[in-house]
Amino acid sequence: MKILVTNCGSSSLKCKLFDMESGKVLAKSVVNKIGNKAAEVKLIFWEKEEFSETAAVESHDKALKLVIKRLTDKECSVLSSLEEIDAVGHRVVHGGTIFKGPALVNKRVKRAIEKLIKLAPLHNGPALKGIKACEKLLPDVPQVAVFDTAFHQTLPRHAYLYSIPYEFYEKYKIRKFGFHGISHKYVSIRASELLGKPLKKLKLITCHLGNGASVCAIKGGKSIDTSMGFTPLEGLTMGTRCGDIDPAIVAFIMEKEQMTVDEVGDFLNRKCGVLGLSGISNDFRDIEREAFKGSKRAVIALEVFIYDVKRYIGAYVGILNGIDALIFTAGLGENSPLVRSQICKNLSYLGLEIDPHKNFELREGERIISKESSKPIMVIPTDEEYMVALDTKQVLKQPVRSFA
Ligand code: AMP
Repeated sequence: MKILVTNCGSSSLKCKLFDMESGKVLAKSVVNKIGNKAAEVKLIFWEKEEFSETAAVESHDKALKLVIKRLTDKECSVLSSLEEIDAVGHRVVHGGTIFKGPALVNKRVKRAIEKLIKLAPLHNGPALKGIKACEKLLPDVPQVAVFDTAFHQTLPRHAYLYSIPYEFYEKYKIRKFGFHGISHKYVSIRASELLGKPLKKLKLITCHLGNGASVCAIKGGKSIDTSMGFTPLEGLTMGTRCGDIDPAIVAFIMEKEQMTVDEVGDFLNRKCGVLGLSGISNDFRDIEREAFKGSKRAVIALEVFIYDVKRYIGAYVGILNGIDALIFTAGLGENSPLVRSQICKNLSYLGLEIDPHKNFELREGERIISKESSKPIMVIPTDEEYMVALDTKQVLKQPVRSFA
C-alpha cells in the first residue's frame, strides 16, 4: 500500500510518499514560497539523488501538480503510474469539536474544514486547497483528513473550559482545543513500543519543543490536558508567541501602543516569545550561542522558556497522579541537550534523573537519556507525516465512518 501525505502551510507544501508495508519513505518534497515567481522546489527520492529547482509556483494546486508529476518521471521512477497511490492523507490543523479522529473526505467534511478556517486561517485554508487539488489530480483516490486537534478531544470538560460565561462556549465554541496532537500521539505510541509497555497503562508527559511548543499529559493513550488552547498562542513561551500572559496585558498594550485588534494579534503571535525577550532571534540556536557569549537577554529568554516547561511538567504530574516517562520531541526537544538538561534539573523527586553523558552524546534518533535508576526520559524524533499515513490507513480499513 502506498500513501501520499500532504502538509500545507500558508506558502508551503510538504509531501511524503510512504510504502506502508516497509514503512519506507519513497519520496519526500518541500515547496517553499508558493505564490512567488521563484518558489523553491526540493524533492528527495529513496536512495537516489536530490532534485532542486526554482520555478514559478503560483498556487498549492500548481505545487502539487509539479510534485505528483515528478513521482512518475522516468528519471525518478518512484512510481510507474499514479494508480499505485492508494490514498492521500492530509494534515489539517483544526478539526474543531466536530472531528474526534481522522475522516474520509467528502462534501460535508470539506464544508466543515472550510467553516473552521476562521479559527485557523493560516492552516485550514491551505489544507483545504491541498485536498481540492488532490481530488482533481487523483480523482479516484480516497482522501483522508487527519486533524491536529482530534487527539485532544478526550480532554475532560474541566480542562477544556475557560472561566468565562458558559454561554460564550455555547455561542462561540470558545474552549481549549489543543494543537500538535498528531505529534503528541505519535511519540506516545513510539514510547510505549520502545518501553515494551501497553499505552493503556502509561502516564506520559510529552514535550513538543520547536518554534511552536506545547506540553501534553497523556493517560492510557488519551490526552487529558495540553498547554495550547483555543489557539496555538496559549501555553509555553515560544519562538515568537507569547504563551500564557495575563489577559489584561492585551488591552493595556493596545491602549499604550495604539494598536488595533489585528495589530495586537500579530504582535502576540510574531513579536513576542523568546524573540521578544532576547531581542536576538526566535531560533534557540542563536539564543544559546549568545547566552554562552554572555548576552543577558538571551539568558533571560532561556530561563523563561525552561521555567515554563518545568511549570507545565509539574502541573501535569499532578493531574496524572504520577509519571511513567517524560518525552522530548521536535527541533529543540530533539537537538538541544542544554535545554533538556535544564528542564530536567531538580526533578529527581519525581524519579526523573537525566544522564549527562547520554544527554550530551552526539546521537540522533530514538533514545533514552536518563540514568538506569530513573524513570525513562526519552528523545523521540517526531514523524507527523507517518502518523498521518497510519491514520489514513486505519480509516481505509473501516467501512463505516463516524462522519459520513
Ligand atoms: P521545529 O519547529 O520543530 O522545526 O523546530 C525548529 C526550532 O528548533 C528552531 O527554530 C530552533 O529554535 C530549534 N533547534 C533546532 N536545532 C537545534 C539545536 N541543535 N539546538 C538548539 N535548538 C535547535
